[in-house]
Amino acid sequence: MEAPPHKHIVMVPLMAQGHLIPFLELANKIVHRNPIFTITIVNSPLNINYLRSAIANGPSPPHQIHLRSLPFNSSDHGLPPNCENTDGLPMTQIIKLFHASTTLEAPLREFISEVIADEGNPPICIISDKFMGWANNVARSFGIANYSFNTGGAYGPTAYCSICLNLPHRNHADGGTHEEFSVPGFPDSCRFSIALLGQYIRAADGEDEWSTFFQSQISYSLQSDGWLCNTSEEIESTGCVALRNFIKLPFWCIGPLIPSSMLKKNSGVDTGSGIIVQKSGKLDATRPEKYIEWLDSHPQGSVLYISFGSQNTISETQMMELAKGLEESKKPFIWVIRPPIGFDINGDFRSEWLPSGFEDRVKSQGLVVHGWVPQVEILCHRSTGAFLSHCGWNSVMESLSQGVPLIGWPLGGEQGCNAKMLEEEMGVCAVLTRGVVSTIDKEEVKKVIEVVLDKNEDGKGGDMRKKAGEFGKLIRESVEGSSDKAMDDFVSTILFT
Ligand code: UDP
Repeated sequence: MEAPPHKHIVMVPLMAQGHLIPFLELANKIVHRNPIFTITIVNSPLNINYLRSAIANGPSPPHQIHLRSLPFNSSDHGLPPNCENTDGLPMTQIIKLFHASTTLEAPLREFISEVIADEGNPPICIISDKFMGWANNVARSFGIANYSFNTGGAYGPTAYCSICLNLPHRNHADGGTHEEFSVPGFPDSCRFSIALLGQYIRAADGEDEWSTFFQSQISYSLQSDGWLCNTSEEIESTGCVALRNFIKLPFWCIGPLIPSSMLKKNSGVDTGSGIIVQKSGKLDATRPEKYIEWLDSHPQGSVLYISFGSQNTISETQMMELAKGLEESKKPFIWVIRPPIGFDINGDFRSEWLPSGFEDRVKSQGLVVHGWVPQVEILCHRSTGAFLSHCGWNSVMESLSQGVPLIGWPLGGEQGCNAKMLEEEMGVCAVLTRGVVSTIDKEEVKKVIEVVLDKNEDGKGGDMRKKAGEFGKLIRESVEGSSDKAMDDFVSTILFT
């Protein structure tokens, strides 16, 4: 019998850690659903290498997923050599990388022409990151469908995109700047404020390099055939209503796309499933055993895990106060440190970022790690009791899937709006501070840690834990329920329309 013709999908992720992995998870989901699909993920050479190693370390590399490098040289764009991902760049250069990512348009066109020449047909669709909206133009010119993949949730990204397009904090009828404003898509009663925004969007005026990138890419994505969202309707009911109002396109909530090892609560280490990411050159820091042994020696729910994700960092003064508060709290911790603002993000660790003698004094209290840790394994461990996080979406979903409440310190992008939802709507987060210029005091740090790690089940910490546990349950249920159905529906849509 003749094999059925395969259906080719091309995926275009943003050049950022927190976007590449959800794309790979999405590709895995689609090909496991139906062997008729072949997926090619395209990106710059170093990001493709990174994905290659992620696939090699993953559960079972599906042969239907292909990777294709498109020519890209960071030096051509005024970036340091070999900088193709936000994780190796300070914030001031990240926007340059985003603008540079639009130059992948011509190579993508060539690749699609190649597919047509080789296979006799164009791919059935392009799935591109919502911030790689230019791919919609490529799809249109070949008569191919284009879907935007929003690797974040619903509430935060809707608020962020809507704010970027409407700049409501500047665009009032009276021409003034307002501290509080409503955001198109959300009900008027839902108030947002300038304080929620990262420093660049706060200063955006429609002409600067942040506005021009985000406004154009979001606008293109709003002309696509629909959006895929890395969340579920059960987790984010308000966010999904707002998203529906804002995009006015079909959308499918197919998430959260967290590693399958996280779908069992406090599942412990299960490195055999899910995608285990190892960052090149830092393999020692990713040996889960080291962390697991240390976590094993602590009581259940007692450890604070601290990380600001793959691309953000805080200021030197903030780092100093965080260290002092942490030490005075006497709570066990794992703290992943990236160089503070103003220092080479890829440079060596310097002890002057921390109070004198800090590392020696806290040796028996916590682990100070420079660079990268196996976050999934840490969050899955029963000793982890809270996560001080920048509220990046993957981190949030990973944490809640294990019933671990958050201490929020949002830094940029939609993180401020994520933190608002987590604190005000979901009750699973206590926001410590926001951004890189805020003044924090060690006493505030100590207080919030004590509140959230408090063992008393009737206190605020207990309530946050209970709610985080409930959201963990919703995450597991939706992955097997509504999100699974939405994925079926999406697959039928791309196959039969
Ligand atoms: N991550 C990790 N080890 C680290 C820091 C981050 O494995 O030391 C992973 C984390 O598990 C998550 C991703 O990197 O999957 C970060 O994504 P998120 O959306 O939270 O934040 P971003 O890095 O995009 O700001």
